[in-house]
Amino acid sequence: MYTEKTMKRRIRTLERQIEKIKTELAGLGDLHPGSLTEQYNVCGTPGCRCKASPPQKHGPYYQLSYSRKGKGTTRFVRREHRATVARQLKNYARLRQLVDRWIDLAMELANLRLEQDKESDP
Ligand SMILES: [Zn+2]
Repeated sequence: MYTEKTMKRRIRTLERQIEKIKTELAGLGDLHPGSLTEQYNVCGTPGCRCKASPPQKHGPYYQLSYSRKGKGTTRFVRREHRATVARQLKNYARLRQLVDRWIDLAMELANLRLEQDKESDP
């Protein structure tokens, strides 16, 4: 349990941490959910190097898989877009991390505010 002084200090700390999260969220760049995977394929051309021994498969090809509103989607990503998409995925992961942290802090703050109200009652 907190004393009134430590409760106020904790509230200020939580408010500061939430402000930092908001600032970082506002600065997040482009984002996209999902994950990138590398793929190597075998084609249908007879005598192709992908059927040699050992096989030299075609690729890598990059595939972006994500799920949105319960619907899973997969699409190819051009090699030259790979770094951009990887950055978008990283930003999305950071967004989720920050929001999750915000929720934890907000819940603690909300409870402390109620505690504080209770203590200031006559
Ligand atoms: Zn081939």
